[in-house]
Amino acid sequence: MANAIEAAVYVRISRDSEADGLGVKRQESDCHALAKKLGWTVIDVYTDNDVSASKKKPRPAYEQMMRAVESRRIQAVVVWDVDRLTRKPRELEDWIDHADALGLQLASVGGEIDLANEQGRAMARMKGVFARLEAETTARRQRAKHKEMAEAGRYVGRRPFGYRFATDEKGVVLTGTQQRLVIDPAEAAVIKECVRRVLDGESLWSMTKDLNAREIRTAAGGEWQPQPLRRTLLRWTQAGYRKHQEFKDGHWTGPVQLFAAGWDAIIDRETHERVVARLTDPSRTTNKGDTELKYLLTWLVRCGECDRPMAGAKSYTYTVKGYKRVDGTRSPSKQRVYPAKYACPHSGCHGVNRRMDVVDGYIERHVVALLEVEGVRVLGGDQEVAAEARERIEAVEAKMALISDTWIDGGLTQEQFHRQNARLMARLEGEQARLRAAQPADGLDDFAGVEAGVAWLTAGVERKRMVLRALIDLAGLRITIDKIGPGAFSATDSDPYKGIRVEWS
Ligand SMILES: [Zn+2]
Repeated sequence: MANAIEAAVYVRISRDSEADGLGVKRQESDCHALAKKLGWTVIDVYTDNDVSASKKKPRPAYEQMMRAVESRRIQAVVVWDVDRLTRKPRELEDWIDHADALGLQLASVGGEIDLANEQGRAMARMKGVFARLEAETTARRQRAKHKEMAEAGRYVGRRPFGYRFATDEKGVVLTGTQQRLVIDPAEAAVIKECVRRVLDGESLWSMTKDLNAREIRTAAGGEWQPQPLRRTLLRWTQAGYRKHQEFKDGHWTGPVQLFAAGWDAIIDRETHERVVARLTDPSRTTNKGDTELKYLLTWLVRCGECDRPMAGAKSYTYTVKGYKRVDGTRSPSKQRVYPAKYACPHSGCHGVNRRMDVVDGYIERHVVALLEVEGVRVLGGDQEVAAEARERIEAVEAKMALISDTWIDGGLTQEQFHRQNARLMARLEGEQARLRAAQPADGLDDFAGVEAGVAWLTAGVERKRMVLRALIDLAGLRITIDKIGPGAFSATDSDPYKGIRVEWS
């Protein structure tokens, strides 16, 4: 064909594409067919994977295509619909400018649009505006739907640990509006046990090891890890509450709201709040008075004799009064300074104590080394991946709620509903796994990686204690002071660090 117009096909996978049955292959083949009909030669196909139409995220293929347009490598673009091409009316204005300046042609499967004339431009603008309106309306409806379900105390999502979905008399799981959670007695007992152990000050890491040794599995059937265990224990589900927070434009916004749930609680609210306090603010459990918290390792270092947490004791000065001489005068008083120390408060463990400055210095060197090597794995996480996964989870959950309503309203057969639901469920689990893997430890990302040493040096005692607590919980860090002799500071002469043990898994 003479003077063939060289065109690009642009396809975008959006949040709704899959639900609309508009997979990338379908979009692409429709576009190819249209190009052929128009006599255009497709020389490039650009594909962006973009789950959200409103999020401000770069679309690499789109940018690349714009460069190809500017360099006049291509003279036309084929899209499935204008709303695939532009997410915002502003972007559409760019296109119209390009069309004017470069004579760019645009065709869409959903209707031919000629940007070279006024009617075509007006049509394109209108389509863009309506696509935007539709995206916003859908998002708003989904948010309203979510809120409504939360207020009704309805559960959304995968089976939470401690519960099962109720079944009918034939053992078939109830779905749709009939879906409800019932307590799983065996798992509920595990939750109660873990709650007690957390409040007793046990680390998540040692609980995880124990649960796995006993072959107790997560709701998904896997082995426990400290972070998922922590998230399980932080959930309001087992306290009989449905938590709700608005998710808008890729972020959790607004206050966290709790609604009375349509299922029974495993633990009472007050106990749950103590668990949340313990797991979200590690320093709180060890808060036994302001003075002790000035010390780095109070209650975080363990006694090698009895394994109890050791207390910090402040430095004090003891005055030995001078004796009275026969002539009535006094010999000069002498002062003895006892440095601050960590000591086991257990009465049977006399002599298990060590100079605080020595222990602190030793531990800080080890912790910085541990952070530099393991910090990313233990405290890091990928915020961007986590935000994406959260957004997709939100979308899938909203979709699940919608198809279940459609089914109730008779818009889907039982079989269609189950098929779609199973597919969404699989996606949900995949995204939840991604989210778990990407989850960072709360506010401690500064301490992950090569800059850990700097972050540590500049942190205050409170923050350092948070890091230590996280390392104890998540990396199995253990600091132990062994009994090494009868006196308080027997080790200081030959080997100042004798009997101080730092271990991690
Ligand atoms: Zn002891």
